[in-house]
Amino acid sequence: MAEPLSVALVGIGKIARDQHIPALNADPDWTLAATVSRSGGVDGVENFADLPQMLEARPDIGVVSLAVPPVPRFAMAAAAIGAGRHVMLEKPPGATLAECHALSAQAQAAGVTLHATWHSRMAHGVAAAKEWLAERELKRLRVTWKEDVRRWHPGQEWIWQAGGLGVFDPGINALSILTEILPAPVHLSRAVLDFPGNRDTPIAAELDFAHPGGAEVSAVFDWRQEGPQTWDIEAETDAGTMRLSDGGATFRAEGAAPVEGPDREYPRLYARMAELVRAGTSEVDLAPMVHVADAFTLGRRRVVEPFDW
Ligand code: NAP
Repeated sequence: MAEPLSVALVGIGKIARDQHIPALNADPDWTLAATVSRSGGVDGVENFADLPQMLEARPDIGVVSLAVPPVPRFAMAAAAIGAGRHVMLEKPPGATLAECHALSAQAQAAGVTLHATWHSRMAHGVAAAKEWLAERELKRLRVTWKEDVRRWHPGQEWIWQAGGLGVFDPGINALSILTEILPAPVHLSRAVLDFPGNRDTPIAAELDFAHPGGAEVSAVFDWRQEGPQTWDIEAETDAGTMRLSDGGATFRAEGAAPVEGPDREYPRLYARMAELVRAGTSEVDLAPMVHVADAFTLGRRRVVEPFDW
């Protein structure tokens, strides 16, 4: 087996603790060699208060994984690539598309790997949905992503600040699946974004897409859903219907075996990162982010009730 890869994890917040650290600890191919955290890091792992200090002190660490919010991420990624490190980006890969293009070019020039991750694409049912749709003619597809922001993002102020994406923070997960499973690309044709009067980012959105074959493709995102949570994609085709639910984890369709299983999204992301580093290549698909940028460009803005935690 190849030598394990050493990684520094930057930003020890919710997703680092819930997913990155358990995935790294369970994978013999990876060593969590350092953290960069303003608030303390992880027991037993060397912590640095900022990234430049870590890059200076630990030239042995070849990979930097950024689990910080999108706005501070560009400067960190640029510094890590500038120091010759391979970089793994949480989703969304940046606060703007231009930032992502700049990082791609920088990584290519430096000969290091840049991996813009989309964890939802690694959910169990996604590959089966893609395969099923590839053989059929799409008539209608509806994305419904409705969750309770207080439950999933407790106290995270950055999601309400410019660049934090608001409801597109989970919504881009749905768009990452949509752009993966559709055989032909769609583009945004209409959007309505609901902004709480006291916030910079939307709490809900309705999106319609133009499909090359004329299928009706739409999405609704809402952060005000209490009770049962909904992360579903339903499609009607010329040969049956399918439903991808639980954020992509469960696939059910006419004429196909059901697919579901335990959550392996982050173990799969790190396995993919190891492959990319060893192959000396990058993976930066910005298609989900193009739809988000288009929604902010084309979307009609409605002001709704102020949001407070
Ligand atoms: P979070 O709980 O707020 O954690 C982010 C961490 O980044 C903070 O705890 C902080 O860690 C560090 N940080 C550095 N600069 C920061 C700044 N300017 N503002 C705020 N934090 C800063 O957020 P999260 O939920 O983990 O989300 C981080 C990224 O992961 C986002 O892009 C999000 O879309 C993605 N993600 C989140 C989830 C989820 O379920 N929450 C799921 C998948 C992906 P230190 O105190 O250690 O410096």
